[in-house]
Amino acid sequence: MDQIRVTVWNEFIHEQENDTVKKIYPHGIHYAIQEFLSKNKDMRVQTATIHQPEHGLTEEILKETDVLTWWGHIAHDKVDDEVVKRCHKRVLEGMGLIVLHSGHYSKLFRTLIGTNCSLRWREAAERERLWNVEPSHPITLGIGEYFEIPNAEMYGERFDIPTPDQLVFISWFEGGEVFRSGCCWQRGHGKIFYFRPGHETYPIFYNQHVQQVITNAVRWAKPVVRISDYCPEVDPIEKIEAREGEYGKAGVRQQF
Ligand code: ZN
Repeated sequence: MDQIRVTVWNEFIHEQENDTVKKIYPHGIHYAIQEFLSKNKDMRVQTATIHQPEHGLTEEILKETDVLTWWGHIAHDKVDDEVVKRCHKRVLEGMGLIVLHSGHYSKLFRTLIGTNCSLRWREAAERERLWNVEPSHPITLGIGEYFEIPNAEMYGERFDIPTPDQLVFISWFEGGEVFRSGCCWQRGHGKIFYFRPGHETYPIFYNQHVQQVITNAVRWAKPVVRISDYCPEVDPIEKIEAREGEYGKAGVRQQF
């Protein structure tokens, strides 16, 4: 069986600077995600962070990546434009991308999606209920009608995104807001999944439902094809009669 090669990308700044976050994710959010994904025999998982040369996302690494997961928050603007361009190109060629939580404002997501991706937010440790609105979708496999996160940061509408190709989760928050929490798009040959949960001061990535959704999303987002961009001039398959008399030479080669 071919394993899905996953690269878990994390900014890895809060975990080193904030004691609360450090306590929850002593080795970083990327480590926690790698840990639960690695339990799946069909996945081979490596990590990369902003601190590595080229943020750990070199041509070679991306060539060996089927699905990239992205967590970032306070350093979106520190991500090198060349790296963003490279990841963007790989998605269009077929690489899957899973954008988590505050990754909604990352350069990569905003470039691929094409809108500002802004939203309303509040940090009040409130209850979130995520409704599964597409029970037949591969990403919601094993999730019931809904699941809850006892303490979450609120993200509310309007979420400035283009209408998703498929919307699989809608969140309700204790404070009254709703949010499109699980959104699927296709860009070029690549699949993109945005998943809302994941605030750094709550132990969200240890929640079994969150882990199940991300695991499902990796399987859903794996590439079907890998096709580099090209725009060739081509010879016709059938013989085309010359029509100089009627239409001039536009588009018709001399030898025909
Ligand atoms: Zn957050």
